[in-house]
Amino acid sequence: MPRLVSHPDEVKIVTRRFGQGAAQIDRYLELGGYEAVKKCLAQGPEWIVEEMKASGLRGRGGAGFSTGMKWSFVPKQSAKPKYIIVNGDESEPGTCKDHLIFLHDPHSVIEGTIIAGLAVGAKMGFIYLRGEYRYLLEKMERAVAEAYERGFLGKNIFGTEAEFQIVTQSGAGAYEVGEESALMESLEGKRGVPRIKPPFPAVVGLYGGPTVINNAETIATVPHVIAMGAAAYAAVGTPRNGGTRLFGISGHVERPGVYELPMGYNLKKMIYEVAGGVRGGRGLKAVVPGGSSTPVLLPEEIDIGMDFDQVGKAGSMLGSGGVVVIDDQTCIVEFAMRTISFYAHESCGWCIPCREGTDWLKKTLTRFHAGFGQPSDIDNIRYLAENMLGRTFCPLGDAAAMPTLGFVKKFRQEFEDHLHGKPCPYARAGVPQLTVV
Ligand code: SF4
Repeated sequence: MPRLVSHPDEVKIVTRRFGQGAAQIDRYLELGGYEAVKKCLAQGPEWIVEEMKASGLRGRGGAGFSTGMKWSFVPKQSAKPKYIIVNGDESEPGTCKDHLIFLHDPHSVIEGTIIAGLAVGAKMGFIYLRGEYRYLLEKMERAVAEAYERGFLGKNIFGTEAEFQIVTQSGAGAYEVGEESALMESLEGKRGVPRIKPPFPAVVGLYGGPTVINNAETIATVPHVIAMGAAAYAAVGTPRNGGTRLFGISGHVERPGVYELPMGYNLKKMIYEVAGGVRGGRGLKAVVPGGSSTPVLLPEEIDIGMDFDQVGKAGSMLGSGGVVVIDDQTCIVEFAMRTISFYAHESCGWCIPCREGTDWLKKTLTRFHAGFGQPSDIDNIRYLAENMLGRTFCPLGDAAAMPTLGFVKKFRQEFEDHLHGKPCPYARAGVPQLTVV
């Protein structure tokens, strides 16, 4: 479980109530909770959507799409009911931020869900937690029950004519269900595999109705944006990247944990100052900047601002904000093998390039790392990954291919060294294995 950590450079917006008992509704109210939703009830849907657009808040799940724009795509009139879904299927290795929100501030998720519902005209929301977070579901359910008792959920919320209901749901523990259409299938009680798009969820989503699906951190940020005002929130970050981000720093650092830092915060500073540098004073070999699906960066590439645009320019992605630090005593081939093994395990098997590609990559990398590689394997690994990219039904195929390509391209020499040293020339006796929170 990630620790509650702190650093003077943090700007605590989403985390400002953490560690203060805010999971209990009276404390949440004392700390200014549910004021933002009252403001939204008074202002109306158009105002809410415009505020979200102006705030520069971009989806915190990984795609980084403008939250206000996403909400504006939902048709005003619809014959079918509209829905809000909170995506709490947090499964990307290296990522553990939504977990802390559910644990310390569940009412912010409820409040954000109600606001999203008011913005698009939905009367029903679902909060979906990954299967492994079942112990947090209880906490979330308690918070939802408290909100119903106070008249914040149900019919005539806050004494108005508005209605909003919330249902909580646990997944069965599948990474794939983090993909929005697979999550909707799962919510409908079906196998969690993706749907063909278009139509997109904003038009045809859950039970065929227009649906907004947002990551839990995005939704928990919404009440803060409303409370502090879009302009003030946007000013915290960089242009087109408003506000803060919960960065989960793990791997070989002295002080791993989740830190709330302004968008655009320097990655090098994040590792060496906020997280205390590489563990044991060792050298830095590489950094995975945004969860295991994002291409690796070399030490000379990390002097960059951590926002969607700057990390993209550096050849990787901000993704889920899960920064994994790799020290100079780690075998990159083993790291690649472990990463791809995860994706091979989580592939839903729906489409061939991903089902077969991840399995081949896993088998090849395992054999290669064990010292039974052939010179042609290195280009075969690259070829396999290249032929998965953009050819799979959902982003999981890319999530497996992109880091693999990065490892082969940036650490080719390390792969070649494995052809001569058996079983692994980079194995170090007594060196602790990399842990990813
Ligand atoms: Fe399933 Fe992988 Fe295809 Fe996605 S890319 S649909 S996870 S097989």
